[in-house]
Amino acid sequence: MAEQTGAEHGRRGAVLLAEGDAVAREVLTDLLASRFEAVHTAENLEQALDVHAGNPLAMALVAARLPGGASSLAMALRRGDARLPFFLTGAPEDILALLTTVSLPGVRLAIRPFDPLSLGAALDEALEEIAAKRLAEEAWDLTRHLLDDAPQPMAILGAAKLVFCNRALLRFMGLQSFHEFSARGLSLERFLADAPPQGGLAAWMRRLEEDPLDREHRLRLAHPDRPGQPAHVFQAAVTPLPGHDRRLLTLTDVTELELERRELLDLANLDPLTRAINRRKLAEVLADEAARADRYGAPLSLVLLDIDHFKAINDTHGHEAGDTVLVELAGRLRATLRQVDRLARFGGEEFVVVAPGVGLEATAELAERLRQAVADKNFATAGRVTASFGVAERAPGEDPERALGRADKALYRAKNSGRNRVERDATPQTQK
Ligand code: GH3
Ligand code: MG
Ligand code: MG
Repeated sequence: MAEQTGAEHGRRGAVLLAEGDAVAREVLTDLLASRFEAVHTAENLEQALDVHAGNPLAMALVAARLPGGASSLAMALRRGDARLPFFLTGAPEDILALLTTVSLPGVRLAIRPFDPLSLGAALDEALEEIAAKRLAEEAWDLTRHLLDDAPQPMAILGAAKLVFCNRALLRFMGLQSFHEFSARGLSLERFLADAPPQGGLAAWMRRLEEDPLDREHRLRLAHPDRPGQPAHVFQAAVTPLPGHDRRLLTLTDVTELELERRELLDLANLDPLTRAINRRKLAEVLADEAARADRYGAPLSLVLLDIDHFKAINDTHGHEAGDTVLVELAGRLRATLRQVDRLARFGGEEFVVVAPGVGLEATAELAERLRQAVADKNFATAGRVTASFGVAERAPGEDPERALGRADKALYRAKNSGRNRVERDATPQTQK
């Protein structure tokens, strides 16, 4: 075993030269010495395995007729580093004989007798590849390092799946490493709190990449193994990474902002006592529903209801008990309504139900069910409470406020006919 150290700049790492023939060893050592920091020569398998065990290698040149066996060395080298650049040297028939007994994907060949010029060029090419690979690895290491330090959850996406999650994202997913993410066959989809965006996550990300101002850039994520925990709302940004079919997904947690936005919206839209929508929001809903009804030629109906003798409830049980009745009544109404119906508190003890898609008859039936939901069961503090109902169907193109006025007239009739009843609007079609 001998070692020769070159002095030029730009040389990389150590090379193993496993060669039994002294002349060939000398020729090759000359070629290698100017290109590597160290040339470790070995005359047989045993010496070569010693070099391999004791030195990190950047490349290996192995004679096909190495005393002791080139195939055992080749396999040992590949076990150590499957991607180690590797030259097999020898006469064509020796190389062929070896390659028919052992599979060495990616191996390079140096045919004897050596032509120093072309072998030098092949070595340089292999060295360029090593350098490029190392640069890419360093860049990738640096990228991972930077992303790992970022407080925001981030991921790098290949053509179809994640190729990296930073530490913040792993922490959110309750994982130790990206390896664990891959090994468990996980995907970001698993953590979606809602149905995946249209066309799937990958398509959604391409849309975001093309249109950074896309409004659909919110993603709600939750941990599937922790069903009790609320979802987090993330603002997503997608940037393409140059040179690859890869993109960077950056998630900013806006859960708090979203909650504040919700609270502000509730404050603006809901009656704080009953959490029915307030009169201001009702005007908005009526305008929207009227426009929609006209667009689709669909019916739109309204119910106006007023608690009977509410003053007496207040007088008998106190104002607070009156409030409790309002809350309980709103709950009973909501439980009876369909998902599309909206409940609004219109005034003190008056409520409006906006019922899209149904006409006068069906809405009168709905009002009847609401009447029963109020009257048929005692209230916690006030005992029996009843309400009176007026129902009207909006005529096509009619101002919904006007239809509400007709529901009010019907309600007035319900009050005058003994209360705890439903009256429907009787205005002739021509006068609407
Ligand atoms: P009617 O059957 O004719 O509707 O009789 P009523 O007693 O319900 O009549 P009216 O509409 O005149 O009375 C409504 C009462 O509701 C008057 C007011 O003190 C009370 N009220 C209005 N808003 C609230 C509220 O938020 N809480 C409570 N506890 N009472 C309210
Ligand atoms: Mg009343
Ligand atoms: Mg009233």
